[in-house]
Amino acid sequence: RLTVSHLEHSFVRTQVLADISFSLEAGEVCALVGPSGCGKSTLLHLCNGLLNLQDGDLASDFTNPATLFQQPRLLPWKTALDNIALSLKARGMPHAQRHAQAVELAVRLGLTREDLDKFPRQLSGGMQSRVALARALLPQPDLLLLDEPFSALDIGLKTELYALLQALQAERGIAVLMITHDLMEAVLLSDRILLMAAEPGRIVGRFALHQARAHRDDAWVYQTTAQ
Ligand code: ATP
Ligand code: MG
Repeated sequence: RLTVSHLEHSFVRTQVLADISFSLEAGEVCALVGPSGCGKSTLLHLCNGLLNLQDGDLASDFTNPATLFQQPRLLPWKTALDNIALSLKARGMPHAQRHAQAVELAVRLGLTREDLDKFPRQLSGGMQSRVALARALLPQPDLLLLDEPFSALDIGLKTELYALLQALQAERGIAVLMITHDLMEAVLLSDRILLMAAEPGRIVGRFALHQARAHRDDAWVYQTTAQ
């Protein structure tokens, strides 16, 4: 579980986040929706430790978080396969075993053996996103932080990648905190939506989408929670 309490954040003298509180349970998908500049990325960077806390509290039981950024951020001098397998190197796993696991996951995410031998610059944006997704998922994260990783892709690719991600998320019970501008995307993909407003960035609405994951195609019931 991740618990954020009364978080505040300022850059120089401008307050960017004000009194942010929410929690994320194991296996839950929570969408963070709000206008450009309302502090979504700042909040995500506080959650993944890229920014230091200024005010408020953040507690996390998740032991293996992973972040997907807007850009794939692949290492240009390594092949797609090496980029993916690298995420297991820190664990001291032997080279052959790392590569075997990386190939298995990459193939499931729609990459071919041919793609895997290419360097990032030789791959399309969609393929690069698949590589970044495989790299993030390979070490079996228990928490995934998504900063609109597929926003540059066309709608077809985006839908396909979210469907692949959703299948693996449900299978492994990964908790996900996902940023999006798109309310429809949030409704389709998450269990809960936090709606933010800007200046200063704050939470102005909380929506729980009560539905069994197995019945995603049935009617949606929205319920505004008390806060
Ligand atoms: P977008 O949807 O466009 O990605 P966002 O909701 O992710 O926007 P942030 O990137 O978190 O917004 O930025 C929130 C505010 O903080 C903006 O006004 C931005 O200009 C400011 N900001 C972000 N990073 C810094 C920084 N390193 N230094 C100063 N100001 C910053
Ligand atoms: Mg952002």
